[in-house]
Amino acid sequence: MGMVMIKCPETGSVIPTGIEMDRERFRSSAVFFSRTYCRMCAATHEWFAKEAWVYESALANGKSGGRESFGGGAA
Ligand SMILES: [Zn+2]
Repeated sequence: MGMVMIKCPETGSVIPTGIEMDRERFRSSAVFFSRTYCRMCAATHEWFAKEAWVYESALANGKSGGRESFGGGAA
């Protein structure tokens, strides 16, 4: 499980969206649109999934077998 992150268009800072999703699911999900409140700007930014990415903390590994995670020649 990871946290969906976006980059603030005003400050360039990375901000967490508060949405938790694993990377595979995020990639395979249809393009979606969301809004996240940015504390830096005290404003709400609208963003598309293509502008976002999933940050998985190092603590989150080793839980599952990882059989179909991440291998398979990403290029
Ligand atoms: Zn912002």
